[in-house]
Amino acid sequence: MTALATIPRTALAVAGLLVVHAVLPVGFWRDVLYVAVGVAATVATARAARRSTGPLRPAWVLLALGLAAWVLGDTIWTVLERVLRTDPFPSLADVAYLASYPLLAAGLVKAFPAPAGRRPVWLLDAVMVASGGLLMLWLLVLRPALSGWAEDPVATTVGALYPAGDAVLLLVLARSFAAVGTRSRAHQRTSAAVGVIMLADVLFQLSSTWPVLDAHAYLLDTLWLLGYLLLAAAARHPSASRVPAPDPDGELSGVNLAFMIGSVCVLPATLIVEALRGGPVHLVEVCSVGVVLIVVFMTRFGGLLRQMSRQHARLDHLAVTDPLTGLANATGVARRLERAAHEPGADGTLPAVLLVALDGYRDVVETLGYGVADDLLRAVAGVLGRDAEPGATVGRMGRDVFALAIDVTAPEEAEAAARRLLDRLAAPVPVRGTDLAVGALVGVAVATARPASAEALAGRADAALSVARGLPERVALDRTGGCDRAGSALPEADLLLGLAAGVARGELVVHYQPVTSVHGGTVIGAEALVRWQHPEHGLLGPVAFVPGAERTGLVRPVTLYVLDAALAQCARWRATGAAVSVVSVNVSAHDLDDPRLVGDVRAALDRHGLPADALGLEVTETMAMRDGVRAERTLRALADLGVQLAVDDYGVGYGSLDYLRRLPFTVLKVDRAFVAPALEDRVCAEILRSTVDLGHALGMHVVAEGVEDAATLALLRDLGCDAAQGWALGRPGPASALDAPGGAAAPAVLPTQADAPAAPASPATAPA
Ligand code: C2E
Ligand code: MG
Ligand code: MG
Repeated sequence: MTALATIPRTALAVAGLLVVHAVLPVGFWRDVLYVAVGVAATVATARAARRSTGPLRPAWVLLALGLAAWVLGDTIWTVLERVLRTDPFPSLADVAYLASYPLLAAGLVKAFPAPAGRRPVWLLDAVMVASGGLLMLWLLVLRPALSGWAEDPVATTVGALYPAGDAVLLLVLARSFAAVGTRSRAHQRTSAAVGVIMLADVLFQLSSTWPVLDAHAYLLDTLWLLGYLLLAAAARHPSASRVPAPDPDGELSGVNLAFMIGSVCVLPATLIVEALRGGPVHLVEVCSVGVVLIVVFMTRFGGLLRQMSRQHARLDHLAVTDPLTGLANATGVARRLERAAHEPGADGTLPAVLLVALDGYRDVVETLGYGVADDLLRAVAGVLGRDAEPGATVGRMGRDVFALAIDVTAPEEAEAAARRLLDRLAAPVPVRGTDLAVGALVGVAVATARPASAEALAGRADAALSVARGLPERVALDRTGGCDRAGSALPEADLLLGLAAGVARGELVVHYQPVTSVHGGTVIGAEALVRWQHPEHGLLGPVAFVPGAERTGLVRPVTLYVLDAALAQCARWRATGAAVSVVSVNVSAHDLDDPRLVGDVRAALDRHGLPADALGLEVTETMAMRDGVRAERTLRALADLGVQLAVDDYGVGYGSLDYLRRLPFTVLKVDRAFVAPALEDRVCAEILRSTVDLGHALGMHVVAEGVEDAATLALLRDLGCDAAQGWALGRPGPASALDAPGGAAAPAVLPTQADAPAAPASPATAPA
């Protein structure tokens, strides 16, 4: 039989028992049943208390003793009243009854332990919750009980001890409500049991002065029995040894608040009722309780205010703190920058910000998991925080990017700080007992004057960080809004956010660079290279905005624009009989991931009435190597369309050559890193030779990029390279430079001897 099935049956039996007791006529058998149930409940509680383990054992022992004392009182009273037919007061029964109060109260206190380490505000709450009840007890029971003092001090004292005991129980019950957040079933029953016993007790004491109650006083026995049985049920419940969770913050629950309001309202209500009844108005008592309540309330309110201000400070701290590392978070760093940018600094100092990104973070996440990666971030935070310049703010902006906000006297000082940071991070970082080696890169920006724009400063540091990624020294310094290192570091965010509008306003310009046959010396195609005629910053090269647009998914309008412009130009060249009849357009990873690209290309070809082989698409090696299913599908669809696909910047990407086997590339564009130094560098020349051989072995058309002089061109001819592109053959420029039939670009350095028969040109770079 399951426990669930037994509970309703037990409850049913208990209810039946209580009904039987209530309806039994007053007399011997009713009292016998009363004492029998009382004793059974006491035994059940005592046995449960004996079995109980853990910190709540003393609580149950005390509660069981309290119940035992009460039932003993009942038994003695029954014997005196029903058997010996005497009714002495006080008697032994009173000793047992009165012993019960402290035992029950102590049991309740132990059953609801007060929250540790917190000021006892629950005590104040308890006074407020119980104040109305206490006042009622005083006015209705205790005060009248004390009135017979002069005649019989002993009996009066004993009589007064009952309401005093009830007052203590009331306070302890209120305390248990105020101190505990959530309570178990056993604890709910315990509170109910003591509450019911106390209520029956108070009503019994009132019955001597209230005739209505007196007429039904026998029913109070049933109420007492209910209390005993509730206590036994509480002790036997499986949750009896579970310590109730203390209310951690000492916040006032809705129930407590309702009790308090009700309790306080008892004060004026008492005066009103007393005045309306025309009886004595107990102004002194009510006002005294009112004064106590005001003092308690003010103390409690003051505590709440202090707690709120502490919480406010804590929230403030959390708002600017990175929970993972304990450093400042992006908001904290921004606030610091804002302050530094606007306050006058120490003599001649300027605010500077260093953004530090970890190089190998992604690898750590992918190979060792986020747990280790988080430990790594904490360890790096430790390194950065340990030796930070005095007055510096160290923070984490997000993921693996940290920030250091400092004041410097010159940009070089900030750059030196960046190098010191890099040196510190070059050493392996101990994480979980092993040393992890992750490099770092730093973007530095220094304000030119105070006040400065903190946002712009951070933006410039971010742009410098992008530049640092491409630099061997891994540090880039942006001084004034233009980076003083390789590449441009115009405020990238501003540029990127304005890019779509710039495209819409027609600010993009497409330049073309000829691709020339190494053997025949004729221009066989042109690569479309985008520029941005920016209204503020002038003509921008693609490095200023294309990589950022690729990273942020903003590149699609650029690709569509260049595709359309290049095909329109190609159609014009074809119509005018110019040499160039094939154009190549660069596409990014985002474009390849976008399933719309194939349709865009087909539509653009149709729009300009061109066959698919008039177009070549260039994909950098790193992008081609990405193992993307969608990109692979797009590339296959483009190849099926008849568009020629070229691997751009071949040789500088990292990784396997598997993509050459998998993907339908027909053109290999060797990066200029191997072409330009090939004359002096034997290794480069050998790499070039083997790449040409590899390309041919795979049936591909090989194009060398970055040909800057005739000697290199001659070398390429010797190596059997098919085509070349570079300043020696023609710089990127307006389309008009390639208008002439046969191609007019840089013929000065073209081979003069009779060319060997050209390798079969790919339609991507050869005229159709
Ligand atoms: P890329 O596709 O490898 O383009 C060749 C780059 O090398 C061009 O730089 C060109 O000006 C430069 N170059 C050509 N010959 C020589 C030479 O003899 N010596 C040297 N030192 N450089 C030479 P550019 O125009 O700045 O373009 C840079 C990169 O920007 C391109 O590299 C390409 O990856 C990207 N890009 C350009 N236009 C677009 C575009 O429309 N869409 C996309 N997605 N990327 C583009
Ligand atoms: Mg290219
Ligand atoms: Mg290239």
